[in-house]
Amino acid sequence: MKNKGCIFCKIAAKELPSKVIAENEDIIVIQDIHPKAPVHYLIIPKKHIKNIQEMEYPDAICIGQMMLMAKELSENLSGSKAFRLIMNNGADAGQSVFHLHCHFLSGRRMTDF
Ligand code: AMP
Ligand code: ZN
Repeated sequence: MKNKGCIFCKIAAKELPSKVIAENEDIIVIQDIHPKAPVHYLIIPKKHIKNIQEMEYPDAICIGQMMLMAKELSENLSGSKAFRLIMNNGADAGQSVFHLHCHFLSGRRMTDF
């Protein structure tokens, strides 16, 4: 379940500090330390999965839980309820932490892609 040396496993286990935005049995949402938008959260499953390439069939539920958490977060946004979700998979796509996570960005117009 937990991967030694993984910073998101340590954050989920409260062995490293973070600003927790929301949490349930399966998911933790934290503030990104280098925000790229006025609202920049990380939706992180507590189970260690490296990225989408490493997912197995039973992990599919994880993605649904992450999307439902995004919905919940959007309900608490002030102003526009619009948000963008980003998942970087692999170093060439910009993944720097190899524990599955989804960036939740909001609070500014994001028309570029
Ligand atoms: P990615 O580059 O898609 O793997 O995203 C990793 C994200 O984790 C980056 O946006 C980092 O700013 C963020 N990050 C790294 N370490 C921490 C930390 N200790 N607390 C909060 N966010 C972090
Ligand atoms: Zn991990």
